[in-house]
Amino acid sequence: MSALADELRHELQELRERSLLRSLRFAQSAQGTRMVVGGREVCAFCSNDYLGLASDRRVRQAAKEAVDRYGAGAGASRLVNASLEIHRELEERLAQFEGTEAALVFPSGYAANLGAICALVGRGDAIFVDRLNHASIIDGARLSGARLLPYKHCDPEHLEQLLRRYTGFRRRLVVTDGVFSMDGDIAPLPELVEVCRRHGAFLMVDEAHGTGVLGEGGRGAAEHFGLRGEIDVLMGTLSKAVGAQGGYIAGSRELIDTLVNRARAFVFTTAICPAACGAALEGLRIIEAEPERRRRLRENARLLRRLLGIATTGAEGEVPIIPVVLGEAQEALRASARLLERGFWVPAIRPPSVPRGTARLRITVCSEHRAEEIEGLARALREIAAPR
Ligand code: PMP
Repeated sequence: MSALADELRHELQELRERSLLRSLRFAQSAQGTRMVVGGREVCAFCSNDYLGLASDRRVRQAAKEAVDRYGAGAGASRLVNASLEIHRELEERLAQFEGTEAALVFPSGYAANLGAICALVGRGDAIFVDRLNHASIIDGARLSGARLLPYKHCDPEHLEQLLRRYTGFRRRLVVTDGVFSMDGDIAPLPELVEVCRRHGAFLMVDEAHGTGVLGEGGRGAAEHFGLRGEIDVLMGTLSKAVGAQGGYIAGSRELIDTLVNRARAFVFTTAICPAACGAALEGLRIIEAEPERRRRLRENARLLRRLLGIATTGAEGEVPIIPVVLGEAQEALRASARLLERGFWVPAIRPPSVPRGTARLRITVCSEHRAEEIEGLARALREIAAPR
């Protein structure tokens, strides 16, 4: 064995001993509420495909048509030769969907956050982040070289204290998840918008889990609070409710032109593939045309919370991310394994995805889950919680 492999084996062993080792589990079927895993059919409560569009017949068909017309791979980066007409179509569609002047598509949401943050702030700037923001925001903030100032989770007062204290920077950017990916709570956007305005800071909102889910038209947390047009930098992903793959930034023409010039995660990577663009265009069309999916999703989220005895007031009761915090990593792993024995696939989420001591089951519901499946999961959760 090579010296490197030997070192890594020890590191992996250490992770295993702390119940933090991760390994891949492969499915033999398409994304959906029913999946085949390890040769066995299970009911899945683990996907961000909230509206069941990833394997929708029409979305698949749109992906195939895009491949037939533009090929499988994009071939190069957007600025080299691979800005295809379907990229323009998708970007215009996204700008229209978000009600902004322009939009820019990245190969993933992760790349969109990294690219936008590093293009907007650097040395001499300050970036204020919610402590529970997604890793792609934190990574972007670290990579940017800007002064990183985390504020307490969903705490606009703490943010304001920091903004008062840390002045004298060229630019100050505040970034928050709209819906928090591991907790399912919604950022207090009205207060954040106000605090940012008061202190001349810019606000970026990551709508990865809000798009297609929150707001009357599925435009996310900003729409939910009636704040469309008030957010300086809107980030979204095509990889969750839209059912495709990729990420995007929407905002002013100047913002998008800046990203085309400065976002290294856009400039130095191959363009998003045609299949993903075709699928995303159809996913967006369905999000607008079929609001009943969103209604079913909200009913399902409310039903599961009710069955689990979680208070279901307001929009937070309708967010499809439902964490069951168990504490230690080992407990979360054990609970996930016991649910799988009962035919339910619910992932254990452990540090560093969540803070130490808050390992959890992260349940996500989909508009396509049937009430019996949700009742079955609630029953299974009660069984595994009972002492053996
Ligand atoms: N932001 C948030 C809040 C997310 O949860 C995720 C994905 N888990 C991303 C960004 C990254 O998006 P993508 O999966 O499209 O890279």
